[in-house]
Amino acid sequence: MSTPTPIVPEHFKQLVGERIHDDALRGNIRRATRTSLEKRLAVISDYDDWEELRSLGYDIKRHVIDHLPYYLKKFEHAAAAAGAVVHFATDAAEAREIVHGLAVQRGGPVIVKSKSMTTEEIGLTHALEDAGIRTVETDLGEYIVQLAKEPPSHITAPALHKSRGEIGRLFADTLGIEYTDDPEELTAIARRLLREDFLAADVGISGVNFAIAESGTLCIVENEGNVRLSTGLPKTHIAVMGMEKLLPDMESLGLFLNLLGRSATGQRLTCYTSLITGPRRPHERDGPDEVHIVILDNGRSRMMRDPHLREALFCIRCGACMNVCPVYQSIGGHGYGSVYSGPIGSIITPVFYGEKRSRALPFASSLCGACAEICPVKIDIHHHLLWWRKSMVGSGDAPRSERLMMRIFLAVSRRPALFDLAGRIARLFTPLFRDGDGGISVPVWRGSRSFPAPPKKSFKQLWRHHEQRS
Ligand code: SF4
Repeated sequence: MSTPTPIVPEHFKQLVGERIHDDALRGNIRRATRTSLEKRLAVISDYDDWEELRSLGYDIKRHVIDHLPYYLKKFEHAAAAAGAVVHFATDAAEAREIVHGLAVQRGGPVIVKSKSMTTEEIGLTHALEDAGIRTVETDLGEYIVQLAKEPPSHITAPALHKSRGEIGRLFADTLGIEYTDDPEELTAIARRLLREDFLAADVGISGVNFAIAESGTLCIVENEGNVRLSTGLPKTHIAVMGMEKLLPDMESLGLFLNLLGRSATGQRLTCYTSLITGPRRPHERDGPDEVHIVILDNGRSRMMRDPHLREALFCIRCGACMNVCPVYQSIGGHGYGSVYSGPIGSIITPVFYGEKRSRALPFASSLCGACAEICPVKIDIHHHLLWWRKSMVGSGDAPRSERLMMRIFLAVSRRPALFDLAGRIARLFTPLFRDGDGGISVPVWRGSRSFPAPPKKSFKQLWRHHEQRS
């Protein structure tokens, strides 16, 4: 059996090549994304003023990011007053170290963990497992990809790329059970196994969907109840959040729960919404003894300072831009080689993993703008992708041949007479370079795409012809 290509951004071309002709995979992705889009459309029609809600979401996020140091301080004070311990981590390594240190001090045979893209971003589960701490993903989708030893392929639906048959075979092979592809049976099996871990764990790790600055409250949404168990049953709850997750107050939370549920899964509200303000009080029966909140920077300060990247911090990780993206629908999340895939992933991955490693990603877009149209907080996604392209090409990262071609094109297209002459020459000679698909084979693109063959007549010639006839 050949070794699978590691799913990292620098393998972009290879990863795409392996997926683009996989009809079964593409079928799974298209079915799942289409269902999400249909469900979303059905529930956003509840509101005549959906566009205004999106604008309000944008305004609130912009306000918070414009005043982020103020809201971070406010949140820290409120969370500490409620009994939580707040840690700040500059980068992924520091965040992993904090969580590892807390986990080691508290011991226990297993850590239960709920779905969190921020912990994926810092590679937390692998780091804990490498340190000999058994760490179990308890979200069903995450549980499936953990069994498959794969990263999640979508922000909200980690196992979206797998069919029920593939999941059935995976369960049979890894858990030693009889094969079934019945979703209810598979869910019941996962539940039974996970329940033992929930009861044994002393530490539960979660992500955070929203953090309320005025009260120090963490808001986590889900559909399975596993977050409730991961955060409420173990003695210690560790929440890991990006510093952009803040909202000013409970009033704004109402709006964002609406935007998130409807955009992500087409639900008016997710099944469970947990609001956690510090650890269990003495008079309360349930809840952890300790709550630790790790607030992660990992490049977010840079994004905050950069006008071209700032808006990406407004993202509420709903995944709608992936569902609607023709590139995502064709290659799936793993095709991008990044924890954060799809259009928004192509903007933030270069920040988190370095521009050199991720330089192909901003180019993985048709720039159709469907992502910006659907985004519940109106992030101008395709223009940010365009800016990344300009920045990467400008920094000299593009191949020399491509830069030379672009320079020639720029010089020619600025001079009408020269442009006209170039068109005539192209129409005369390009038929000699036609490839099998009827396009023109261009050296820098060879093997990936072809240049469209020029039409027989230029626009000017057609126009002149039209004028003569009318
Ligand atoms: S960029 Fe917008 S659409 Fe995409 S995941 Fe973030 S909030 Fe959702």
